[in-house]
Amino acid sequence: MTQTATLLDGKAVAAKVRGEVKERAAAFAARHGRAPGLAVVQVGTDPASSVYVRSKRKACEETGIRSFAHDLPAGVGRGELLALVVRLNADPAVDGILMQLPLPAGLDANEIMDTIDPRKDVDGFHPQNTGLLAQKRPRLRPCTPFGVIRLAQEYGMKLRGLRATVVGASNIVGRPMALELLLAGCTVTVCHTGTRDLAAEVERAELVVAAVGRPGMVRGGWIREGASVFDVGINRTESGKLVGDVEFETAAQRAGAITPVPGGLGPMTIAMLLSNTLDAADAIAQGRGR
Ligand code: NAP
Repeated sequence: MTQTATLLDGKAVAAKVRGEVKERAAAFAARHGRAPGLAVVQVGTDPASSVYVRSKRKACEETGIRSFAHDLPAGVGRGELLALVVRLNADPAVDGILMQLPLPAGLDANEIMDTIDPRKDVDGFHPQNTGLLAQKRPRLRPCTPFGVIRLAQEYGMKLRGLRATVVGASNIVGRPMALELLLAGCTVTVCHTGTRDLAAEVERAELVVAAVGRPGMVRGGWIREGASVFDVGINRTESGKLVGDVEFETAAQRAGAITPVPGGLGPMTIAMLLSNTLDAADAIAQGRGR
């Protein structure tokens, strides 16, 4: 059988979002006499993190956002890192703060992330922003789940009423994804390591989001005919190839629409980060968000 599903082109939609951001950044600069600013903090030299950080900084340059690089050694002390966050919170040139995760062992990521001013929390991970999303009044929204929603909207998908299954329940993808889908009017099931029958939960879903971090975890044969499949997973195989969490070839024969890996939610995540930075910059400039 050959692939029948529509490929959801995250790269193309991300380019569109970045175009919007570029226009908004130019308008912001004309109005305020400075570019919107994003501080990108990396602690240590984890190679995967370095790749992400480089592409985020490059994306800032391309869209007219000023990027402030803060590269700290893996052994940086808790006090020094907290002091940097406090400085960035107070810096009027900085509209968004991105703390690249994971942080090295020994640093309490929750403590550091909770110190970021929620108005500058462009990752949307601060409990205040997660709480606002849970209460149906989203402000800064976690980038990957927000990217799924934007991608679905760009393809004209009607989400209201769909039975959706999210595989993965992390704070950065699975949980906020469930909240986004609930906000969009889906009936949502969230799966995790305690789920008894993962296959059954996926089989009845009209929309599936996979965010586990294990190649082939979601079998193609589980996908309901015509379902929309969003594969957030990024896994590197032994041969160095990037693959998602869904068995792509078999899933694409059954799905109505599916995201590729790479070229799906990866570029969308960065685009939504830039978009959040403009939202934060505009809200701070207008004195909103307290
Ligand atoms: P994570 O924190 O490790 O969470 C993984 C989740 O999967 C957990 O909720 C875990 O359940 C669940 N899980 C693990 N094994 C399972 C199983 N056998 N059955 C059902 N659920 C299972 O990972 P994450 O940070 O959410 O990231 C997930 C993937 O997305 C990774 O590949 C990551 O690289 C990728 N990612 C991509 C982007 C992007 O830009 N595209 C952004 C972020 C992350 P428990 O809660 O019970 O432990």
